[in-house]
Amino acid sequence: MVTRSSAPADTKSPTADALRTLKPADLPAPPQASARIVQACSDPGVSAQALARIVASDPVLTAELLRTVNSALFGLSREVTSATHAVSCLGNRALRNLALCLAVRDAVKPGAIPGIDMREYWEEALRRAAGARLLAAAVEYDADQAFTIGLLQDFGLLAMLFAMPDRVQHWHTLRTALPTARRALEREHFGITHDKVGLMLAKSWALPTALAIPMASHHSLDADGLPEAHMRSCRIAAAADWLAAVYAASDKKTAIDRCRARLDELFGLSTDQVDAILDELPGRVEEAAGALGLRVKEQPRLADVMRDANKRLVEENMDYQELTRRLERTIAEKERLAEQLKEALKELEMLAYYDSLTNLVNRRRFQEVFPAEIARHARNGKAISLVMVDLDKFKSVNDNYGHPFGDTVLEAVAQALRDTLCTTDIKARIGGEEMVLILPETDEADGVATTERVREAIEALELSTPTRRVPITASFGAVTWSGTVRTREEIAVICKRMMDIADEGLYKAKENGRNQVQWLEWSA
Ligand code: GH3
Ligand code: MG
Ligand code: MG
Repeated sequence: MVTRSSAPADTKSPTADALRTLKPADLPAPPQASARIVQACSDPGVSAQALARIVASDPVLTAELLRTVNSALFGLSREVTSATHAVSCLGNRALRNLALCLAVRDAVKPGAIPGIDMREYWEEALRRAAGARLLAAAVEYDADQAFTIGLLQDFGLLAMLFAMPDRVQHWHTLRTALPTARRALEREHFGITHDKVGLMLAKSWALPTALAIPMASHHSLDADGLPEAHMRSCRIAAAADWLAAVYAASDKKTAIDRCRARLDELFGLSTDQVDAILDELPGRVEEAAGALGLRVKEQPRLADVMRDANKRLVEENMDYQELTRRLERTIAEKERLAEQLKEALKELEMLAYYDSLTNLVNRRRFQEVFPAEIARHARNGKAISLVMVDLDKFKSVNDNYGHPFGDTVLEAVAQALRDTLCTTDIKARIGGEEMVLILPETDEADGVATTERVREAIEALELSTPTRRVPITASFGAVTWSGTVRTREEIAVICKRMMDIADEGLYKAKENGRNQVQWLEWSA
């Protein structure tokens, strides 16, 4: 009965695709008798007898109509037993709406769309219908009309699934999405939205504008130029969408918040009024399902939904607390790391500047410090002395007592230097057992006295192996400089010359029998 065209090969956009290929003939068609009732009712001059004749001509429709009219949905006090009676009880419009609801219900047979549980679809549609009906009572709108609008407003989606059965896998996502997101998802997956298809359906079923407009425009409330009566129908439909979403959406918390906000915005309803409608909704869905002979599963109550939403809220709060905890941990960790970094930098500095065995300034650092000290003394005009220190016969100490003992000696000598000299004196280890001292603001006389004290301190070191005391002495060669320098190159020359002279002094001290200080005259 239905042909489903496939997309032309040259078509890229799914929207163009759908619009070009989706034809009224692809959409579900109303059953004959119901369609005739709907059309007949659209004629304002139609008589009750004429309508009753149409109803009576179809026994199935008659039975359905009587069953529905007598259901709790209509709440009539007397049982209606004939088509004529039903028509006169209901009036044209209610009859039309009822016929339409039955037509919609029968337009897509159960199992017509493989992969879609029709009960789920009707549950959705009935939520909108019952929601619209409850809302109508609160805002003084025709309850029966509201119900029909609610039932029809998303019929376009069912038609889309019917016409494009290859996309039914999106049904679950669409069903549980919020109304706003749902339309974007439809556009993405079907290239068309249910309101557009709704308009197509309304035209092909020749529905009156009072129903066609809310079907087509319930998502375009800002559209200009609609008469107020139609705007109101659109607002009813839009509100019904949010009422249904509270029960259908997976994000219940957002659905409740948005539903309350939207109904306040559209109709000025208070949160209490909205909650009262929501509270009544599940019962009314079951009632309407019974009236229309549709089966829905037992409806969750508002309390269940609220519990779900609150659980989510609690989870969100827990997430927030957890986030805060993690943040605190991260900050603490960061502080700890910063502290570690500071330590590491200090250690690095130590490594970069100091010798690891003796903790004396290393060769590299000495080579930085020495020229700087020369420059400083050139500025302040004071004398500076440089002393080379070399342990005497240290090779034999190592040879006789072992290298580790030799290391202990080096450490002890370094300590003796620290103990004897000022902190402002620079003590460096520039080779194996060769050390150098920079004595700032020290002339020859002071330098000689100081270096003698160092020599004595080393000689006095009490270093012994388990069996005997090992005497340690050192030889010293030194020089004092004072003067002016202008350039980096001149500074380098002074440094080199002082080192050479001190070295010469050291050689002399060794030659002269060791354990002594040789202070040589500066000469450029
Ligand atoms: P002199 O009095 O002429 O200076 O004799 P010396 O033996 O001290 O002279 P030499 O320069 O020949 O020997 C230096 C020795 O210092 C060689 C090496 O075994 C020792 N030495 C150098 N660096 C270290 C070190 O880091 N630890 C130890 N234990 N010994 C070292
Ligand atoms: Mg040596
Ligand atoms: Mg030596």
